[in-house]
Amino acid sequence: MTSTLCLPRAPAKRAGRTERQHQDDGEGKAGLTLQICFQDDLSSQIRSQPATILVDVQLQKTAAEEHGASLQELRQLVETLRWDIVGTLTQKLQSPMAASLIGTGKLNELSELVKAPSMAESVVFDHELTPTQVRNIREATGVEVYDRPAIILEIFHRHARTKEAQLQVELARLKYLAPRERVSGAKERRGGGRGARGVSESFHEIERRKVRDRTSELQRELKAVHREQVERRRHREGLPKVAIVGYTNAGKSSLMRALTLSDVLVADRLFATLDTTVRALHPETQPRILVSDTVGFIRNLPHDLVASFRSTLDEALDASLLLHAVDAADPAFRSHIQVTKEVLEDIGTGKLPFLVILNKIDIVDSSLKALLEKEFPEAIAMSALNPEDIEALHSRLVTFFLDTMTEVELVVPYGKEGVLADIRKNVHVLSESYEEKGVCLKIKASPGTLTALKRRLA
Ligand code: GDP
Ligand code: MG
Repeated sequence: MTSTLCLPRAPAKRAGRTERQHQDDGEGKAGLTLQICFQDDLSSQIRSQPATILVDVQLQKTAAEEHGASLQELRQLVETLRWDIVGTLTQKLQSPMAASLIGTGKLNELSELVKAPSMAESVVFDHELTPTQVRNIREATGVEVYDRPAIILEIFHRHARTKEAQLQVELARLKYLAPRERVSGAKERRGGGRGARGVSESFHEIERRKVRDRTSELQRELKAVHREQVERRRHREGLPKVAIVGYTNAGKSSLMRALTLSDVLVADRLFATLDTTVRALHPETQPRILVSDTVGFIRNLPHDLVASFRSTLDEALDASLLLHAVDAADPAFRSHIQVTKEVLEDIGTGKLPFLVILNKIDIVDSSLKALLEKEFPEAIAMSALNPEDIEALHSRLVTFFLDTMTEVELVVPYGKEGVLADIRKNVHVLSESYEEKGVCLKIKASPGTLTALKRRLA
């Protein structure tokens, strides 16, 4: 059963605009629909390429370079949704306006702009908007209003594949979009006539209760999924782990693919990967080294989204080494490094050892490459697409873990065959002999592995 919190505003098919068709791959859905359930996404039935207008607000406090990079990124985000950007409206402001972010004059201009000939169905702001601002802008322009978090949420919604990612995205969407939908919904329903206000208020209450119920249901389901994950992770406990982190589109999945010969999705679009995958380093090492690919970061990632992806990022928290992938060919890569560091700090991985990978060096010109090597002497300048570079990185990872390992003796009492099997599979065993008290093993292991083993043997 699907209960829709607020009916989607399907974009009207307007005459005069050529609509390009594209593959039926779940992209290009128009109208951000907030649904309480995931099934039967009504918006997925719409396959046009909706026209949209970007609203570029340049605040005085933001440096021009940062502003430009952010706007360029917003374009990419919107293009990831396969929306057609038919115009841009710019306003320079000292500080944002409380009512509608942009000034009244600009808002009127925007209302004109969405009409013919652009026939836009939505407007997109790079800045986060309050529920009231969304309502005011929607009322003035008559079209859908999105801010950067709403766009990111929509991309996440479309790219979520696993049960966990879907639950997390739905939860984040409920938290972020429900207040915005509710404010506008209530106002629209109010209309005229005495008593209308009371009706809208009870409607409001019903919506609020629905959101609350669905939120608890989602939280319960997520808890169950997490329990399974903790169980799965327990089997990998103590194994050396590397997590690939970094800005979206930096080449994390390409690195993952090359390092593990796995078939994770590589795509030149933002947030192609939402689910963490864990695979063993290839060619396999003894002990096996696990590599995980994580969700990418981006500036102004909605806080709720960071929080909901925490468990996905737990893989990163669990790692002994982070590979911080950077797209060295992107002019904005320094700010990407900064954002990634901030998010890592935020989720508590700031103290983990890390290696910076200056990826895509194959498309960086040689003079810039020389400068980068000087600026980042510790970083590895490489290309995920170059097998020799991957081989060198493989060796570097093996050395990193070997350096942290020491030789120790361990007795596994009889009856703990499960632990013994895991040791044989996952730990570097130098010798083993059968004694009266159990199996005596000489192993080479890292402190983390030893602690985990001792805990299981206690
Ligand atoms: P992710 O979002 O960080 O997982 O990035 P992906 O691995 O999906 O890669 C994003 C895009 O960059 C894809 O089109 C890749 O083919 C491309 N890419 C990744 N690594 C390299 C590289 O070393 N050199 C070049 N030229 N392109 C790369
Ligand atoms: Mg990826």
